[in-house]
Amino acid sequence: MSKAVKMKPVRRLVPKKPSNNILKDPVGVYCRVRPLSQDDQECCIEVISETTIQLHPPDGIKVNRNGEFKETQYSFKKVFGINTTQLELFEDVAKPLVDDLLHCKNGLLFTYGVTGSGKTYTMTGSPGQGGLLPRCLNMIFNSIGPYQAKRFVFKTDDKNGMEIQTQVDALLERQKRENQSALIKTPKQRLDPDVADMINIEDTCKVEGIDEDSVFTIFVSYIEIYNNYIYDLLEETPFEPIKPKWNGCGTPMRSTEFIPPQSKILREDQNHNMYVAGCTEVEVKSTEEAFEVFWKGQKKRRIANTQLNRESSRSHSVFIIKLAQAPLDADGDNVLQEKEQICVSQLCLVDLAGSERTHRTKAEGNRLREAGNINQSLMTLRTCIEVLRENQMYGTNKMVPYRDSKVTHLFKNYFDGEGKVRMIVCVNPKADDYEETLLVMRFAEMTQEVEVARPVDRPICGLTPGRRHRNQAFKDELTRKLDERGGPINGDDGSMIDILLQSFPPLPSCELVDPSDEQTLPALIECLEKRQRAREMLIEAFHNQVVKTKSMIQNFEGTVSGKDNIIQEQRAKLSDKDRIILQHKSELDRLEKKTKTLEYKIDILQKTANIYEEDKRALQQELDTKDQKLHRQLSDNRRLEARLQGVASETKIKWEKECERRVAAKQLEMQNKLWVKDEKLKQLKAIVTENKNERPDQPEKPERPSRDKDKVLLRPVTPSPASLYNCEVPPSFSKPSTPSQQSSGLSVASCVSEWEQRVPQSNWQAGTTPTSRPLGPGSYGSQGRRRGLYQTGERGTCILPPSNVHVEDEILHRSAPPVRPRHRRSRSAGGERWVDHKPASNLELDTVLQPHIPNAIQISTPSEKALSKCDKYVLTHQELASDGEIETKLIKGEVFRTRGGGQAVQFTDIETLKQESPTGSSRKRRSSGNIPVQQEETTENEWTDVETRCSVAVEMRAGSNLGPGYQHHGLPKRRKP
Ligand code: ADP
Ligand code: MG
Repeated sequence: MSKAVKMKPVRRLVPKKPSNNILKDPVGVYCRVRPLSQDDQECCIEVISETTIQLHPPDGIKVNRNGEFKETQYSFKKVFGINTTQLELFEDVAKPLVDDLLHCKNGLLFTYGVTGSGKTYTMTGSPGQGGLLPRCLNMIFNSIGPYQAKRFVFKTDDKNGMEIQTQVDALLERQKRENQSALIKTPKQRLDPDVADMINIEDTCKVEGIDEDSVFTIFVSYIEIYNNYIYDLLEETPFEPIKPKWNGCGTPMRSTEFIPPQSKILREDQNHNMYVAGCTEVEVKSTEEAFEVFWKGQKKRRIANTQLNRESSRSHSVFIIKLAQAPLDADGDNVLQEKEQICVSQLCLVDLAGSERTHRTKAEGNRLREAGNINQSLMTLRTCIEVLRENQMYGTNKMVPYRDSKVTHLFKNYFDGEGKVRMIVCVNPKADDYEETLLVMRFAEMTQEVEVARPVDRPICGLTPGRRHRNQAFKDELTRKLDERGGPINGDDGSMIDILLQSFPPLPSCELVDPSDEQTLPALIECLEKRQRAREMLIEAFHNQVVKTKSMIQNFEGTVSGKDNIIQEQRAKLSDKDRIILQHKSELDRLEKKTKTLEYKIDILQKTANIYEEDKRALQQELDTKDQKLHRQLSDNRRLEARLQGVASETKIKWEKECERRVAAKQLEMQNKLWVKDEKLKQLKAIVTENKNERPDQPEKPERPSRDKDKVLLRPVTPSPASLYNCEVPPSFSKPSTPSQQSSGLSVASCVSEWEQRVPQSNWQAGTTPTSRPLGPGSYGSQGRRRGLYQTGERGTCILPPSNVHVEDEILHRSAPPVRPRHRRSRSAGGERWVDHKPASNLELDTVLQPHIPNAIQISTPSEKALSKCDKYVLTHQELASDGEIETKLIKGEVFRTRGGGQAVQFTDIETLKQESPTGSSRKRRSSGNIPVQQEETTENEWTDVETRCSVAVEMRAGSNLGPGYQHHGLPKRRKP
């Protein structure tokens, strides 16, 4: 079966951020995996690293809906595998708590797990395998051994406080208690060998840095919480040898019955710490004694459980080690009798009830209800942890329901106040426990996220350190000195004198028996003199010694005062440092606040900058589009300018030519006149000479051409750039010019109108298009010879020799559509089909009437395929007129199929669309079909010119392309900007 390994994300611990300058540490959660017992085979827990375990669901347990197994991992501060020794566990988990205890800080250590997971084994241990509790005791007494106070120097009051009494009071109390206990003395039992084995701890360890100028004492208490009731396990059973108890027959009987313990209540002391009111606190002086007390309580617990038919695994046991310490006085001899200087700390070792759910215990009735309550207390513990975590993580301020159960209420201060909290999660890897173990793991994970305020260091008492040592050294020295002198001094002056006297030589016998005794007195005198001398010497030595001692004392006082000064200085420095620290803290606070404000400002500025950035982008875009528009306008303007310049230069050239032409015409005319006059003169001369030689009545006709026959030069005077008809008018059509006309020259219009009058009327009626007109009059067609015709530009202006003025028929012939035999497309298919060729570059004209050809094929580039389907072609062409307006031309043509298989278009018609202002010049929108031929000569000229050019058929062979040159093939060529 496939196993989907799901790596459970290891939850990140909440960063320790000091709130209100209080440092916090997360609850230390450790995991201990016990070895599988012999009955169990399947193991569902695997230690995969020093901090992580993986849970494998046992066979037969479906974890998710797909029926697939899911493996989960849980991480802890440290994981202890099955081979972990009690010592290793102690070193890692409990040692720091003992260290804290001896430095006046509180600690709480509890084991959590299902029944049989090894909680009691971990906490208490088994024979030869002492658990955390005996090890803690051992370490404590190892550390405080030489500094322990005498019994009853410290005294607990019944309000969770600690009192101190003098050595004498303590001695008196000791004697009193000894007397009392002597009365009820039971023979002292020897310690159970198993128990002795438990506390026989080979690896002794010690707390370093213990305050040697203090005295310490340890009190222990042991309570049990069962069914949400607290019982004191160390309470002495009241001494009731006979309990009046009435049996069924009404006779009093001696009680051997078990007296059920009274439950205790929880109280809060003046420091808001919770304590069990009236709980026995036993002062213990050694590990053995302490463990003995514990074992007594343990026994009591066992008896109560059996007697009251309780399930032992469903009760919580709490062993409290309370340490009291007080500094020695300045002499380092006695305890300082100041209550405020007493420091009390405690370490609670809690073996919680099995965390399994009720149904697993198979309890019934009362037991079930009780079990429910016990469950309830663990449930409350879970809820409290949950709420605490939530409050700490999300800054909420929910009430933590500590009061809902005795266990949580008792340890409220650890979570609310300060201290170090550690939890050992005990797990049994057996398959049966899998589901319960999962719940335990979840609780443990959550607990890791709760933080507890770190305990602060105890203030220094202010007395000189090293007092104990100095006092000890003094005492040692005194003893030594006294030993040197021969034993201790009694303090009696007489005996002192005795000693001194003993050191003098003995007096000789001073008994005078003979008046003439000459020896006794002198010997006595001599002895006394000796003594006197010795005495004087002694006095002198004594004086010397006194002086020496005095100077020594002075020296010593000097050093002491020097030391005192140093101490004062150090104190001053310390307070300075404290002040500086405080200042720094406040500065830090201020800076933090400032940082926050600045961060907020930065945030706002960032947002504003973003808004501006967006605005900038939008404006930049607008600018770009405007720039582009401007560029377009500029280039349009440049194009227009160039066009206008072109037009201007063209007009200039044209007028120059016109002027030249007029000058030439005038010259010709003058030459003509001159010639006529010459002729006349010649004739007159001839007449004169004839009259001289012959008769005057037979005048000879001069050969001078008649005035009618004068060749008159007609010039197209219209300045229109679109003047079209390059014409030579035959002399017979020329109208006799008046002098004024001759002087100004004849316009093409007048020329044409004259010509039209002379053309037979029938011919005019037959000619439908101007292109067919020149073909009409055969008379001038025969005369029409091309003579000196130059097409000098696109406008078709011409220079003609002065003698011939007639319509240039050949040009007209050339501009007519080529007459070729073509195959006309059948129109029987229905209507005309158009190819609407609109180059993509065309602009919308915004005219009201838009050209619309129904049923047309729209193309943007010429396509032979489209042409093959249609018989009409229209090209929409746009250009800029000289007045700057856009002019749209619809150039129409017919489509022919050529012999080669290609398509040919013959342009036949042009429609011009143009828009103009009504206030401007009276230009009109024209359509070639609407304007009468004679209405406006220039219009016609232009029209004809365009038509002439368009009428050149565009022939497309199969496979040929219509290039851009072709697009304008039929259009009047204009200078493109
Ligand atoms: P709990 O107190 O959780 O109900 P116990 O501590 O009473 O469980 O343990 C049940 C049994 O398992 C005991 O016999 C104990 O000796 C044994 N045991 C528990 N943990 C271990 C361990 N780490 N190594 C060896 N034996 C253990
Ligand atoms: Mg147990």
